[in-house]
Amino acid sequence: MPGTELFGAEEKKEVNDVLETGVLFRYNHDNERKGIWKAKDFESELKKFTGAKHALAVSSGSAAVSTALASCGVGYGDEVIVPPFTFVATIEAVMLAGAIPVFAEIDETLCLSPEGILSVITPKTKAVLLVHMCGAIGHMDEIIKICKDHNLKFIEDSAQALGSSYKGKMAGTFGLMGCYSFDFFKIVTCGEGGIVVTNDEQLYKNADTFSDHGHDHIGTMRGMEQHPNIGSNYRIGEMNAAIGLAQMRKINTILAKQRQNKLEIAKSLRQYPQITFREVPDEAGDSCTFISFFTPNEATTRKVVKAFAENGVDACQYWYDNMFHYIRQWDHIRDLKSTYKMPVHVLEHPQDYANIKFPKSDNVVSRLISMVIKVNWTEAQLYDRIARIERSLDAVFA
Ligand SMILES: *Cc1c(COP(=O)(O)O)cnc(C)c1O
Repeated sequence: MPGTELFGAEEKKEVNDVLETGVLFRYNHDNERKGIWKAKDFESELKKFTGAKHALAVSSGSAAVSTALASCGVGYGDEVIVPPFTFVATIEAVMLAGAIPVFAEIDETLCLSPEGILSVITPKTKAVLLVHMCGAIGHMDEIIKICKDHNLKFIEDSAQALGSSYKGKMAGTFGLMGCYSFDFFKIVTCGEGGIVVTNDEQLYKNADTFSDHGHDHIGTMRGMEQHPNIGSNYRIGEMNAAIGLAQMRKINTILAKQRQNKLEIAKSLRQYPQITFREVPDEAGDSCTFISFFTPNEATTRKVVKAFAENGVDACQYWYDNMFHYIRQWDHIRDLKSTYKMPVHVLEHPQDYANIKFPKSDNVVSRLISMVIKVNWTEAQLYDRIARIERSLDAVFA
């Protein structure tokens, strides 16, 4: 992924600042740290980029989703509408919160469809946890309207969509809270880390306390701080934050390069009438971390995937078979296999997870291929890749 491709001197410099002082902890130690506050700087950089009023860095994107749910008051027995196509972390966070995941169908935007959401709302629905999959945004206006009309909390798992926007507004800044991930596979990385954003000061305070054992972070004596509520440790460390800071400063360069590379590949794919593209309601806001496209049916898609592999077109994802991104392969989630008892095991839930079917999502995901867009491709490598793509497609569609 782009961030890891551009890892270099800037990251080392930021990490070295931390190593110089030895203060690996993000709070306190004001004298020893000599003005080095990497977590705060990382948060400021992200606020500047997204336009969010508040940002709080945490230990992972998964921790960010858990923090957002807790901060927004989503917990025991609350039904939360989620997509069946997402990284499995989204669903785990709902279950860990003691809430009940309710799956709704996606559409060709690869995100929850407005009709899908509408069809699973019950009196117990508390929130919609929308995932902007594979770097772009779905039908936002319609979904926001549904949440307003039904008084649902709207939370964004924008872990895969940092840098995507819709009508000029950044993914993660539409809902009560947005969640980003900086794991090794995201557009920019900090090793392991996440950030929650919000425009609501109270929600920010909830997140700030929840992610650090209730600490209110007022004053300079950690042991004497107030603890307005129960939390845990989802803190980010200064080393990770330092890397995240350096990477955030590269995101505009990354986005520009990805968009340029994606355009070239799209131009090639457009020669094939059999291929259609993932629907992006605001094309200008596509972060272009992937180019995602469909063939007419599952059998053809499998042929294309095979041909790509044979012709050395690497970094292609066929999510339908992926063990962690689509519900078809989530037997552990479907069967609620867990080492301990969660509320979802004992509370009534409206869906029979083991047997529920998703015909619309199956139709979308079984025909879908996502290609990673890299930023370090030389022009020669890009055109060699396009030649391999065309060789593969010519063979399948011949
Ligand atoms: C990556 C990801 C997460 C989790 O992020 P981590 O930093 O790996 O914990 C959550 N949701 C989605 C949609 C993701 O892609």
